[in-house]
Amino acid sequence: MVSKEKLKKQVEKTSNALKGGVKKAGGKGLHKGVASHKHCRICHLPIDIKREPEICGDEACDKKWLQNKKNEKMVRIAFFLFAGVFFAPMIWNGIRVLL
Ligand SMILES: [Zn+2]
Repeated sequence: MVSKEKLKKQVEKTSNALKGGVKKAGGKGLHKGVASHKHCRICHLPIDIKREPEICGDEACDKKWLQNKKNEKMVRIAFFLFAGVFFAPMIWNGIRVLL
């Protein structure tokens, strides 16, 4: 009869082997030629890895990129406003408790 301890060890061994296998396979796949380039954020054309911002330089992409940037800024501002309205009373209450 198999003891509980033995069974536990067996399971651990199997799960570790599985994890190791996945790690190995994933690592191999991820680093195959991906490290040498980036993609344009708009049209996904391959671009130089050092290029900033991450766009190909096409006029249409440039416009869209600027638009996206503006939108991101708006979303961020909206988020901070929301967070401020939401958390300010909590923080204020926290300070009042401490004082
Ligand atoms: Zn592009």
